[in-house]
Amino acid sequence: IAALSEWLDERFPIPAPRSGRSRLLVLAGPTAVGKGTVAACIRESHPEIHLSVSATTRKPRPGEVDGVHYFFVDDAEFDRLIAENQLLEYAVVHNSHRYGTPRRPVDEALAEGKTVLLEIDLQGARQVRAAEPSATLVFLLPPSWDELVQRLVGRGTEDAEERARRLRTARTELAAQNEFDFRIVNADVATAAREVVELSSVSAR
Ligand code: 5GP
Repeated sequence: IAALSEWLDERFPIPAPRSGRSRLLVLAGPTAVGKGTVAACIRESHPEIHLSVSATTRKPRPGEVDGVHYFFVDDAEFDRLIAENQLLEYAVVHNSHRYGTPRRPVDEALAEGKTVLLEIDLQGARQVRAAEPSATLVFLLPPSWDELVQRLVGRGTEDAEERARRLRTARTELAAQNEFDFRIVNADVATAAREVVELSSVSAR
């Protein structure tokens, strides 16, 4: 048996975290999978983890606070952030608004030895991988496609046209899940949040 398990380990290695991973954790996944909710849950239960606040050109939704949920900026300000190389990554998301990760707060938190969590889209995750190959990329999955559609309809923040557009993006995003280091199914928010946090301690060096 021992020999068999050794042989299996050799032929089929258990996926282990790559060595040399940094504390930079990227959480991506299709629209309405609950990335924001999982990130908020982590912010509540793990204040020691630095949750990056993105800049966006979209308008605040009711209840969203500037500097907490996003830095709400206009197009000119976003252009300036790009020109000054202040963004670690940025992208046009859902063919509408621009979103980007301010570089300095991320660098500072990493320098302080903190785990940093970015909740961004697939294009952004790819840019982070290119810029910081040691980052840990986590893909959040819905329990099923139907569940994803239900969640999008249920939250009622998008009209039918916008929902259709987001679902098209979701299909392409789901197809890219193999590019990620880890996949987590978001069946239960608290459980998914815990699994993300556990990954951050597995991958941290
Ligand atoms: P929402 O408008 O619903 O808050 O976010 C729309 C999408 O933008 C989500 O998929 C979210 O992950 C993504 N997003 C938020 N911040 C960033 C960012 O800084 N960079 C990128 N690339 N995507 C972001």
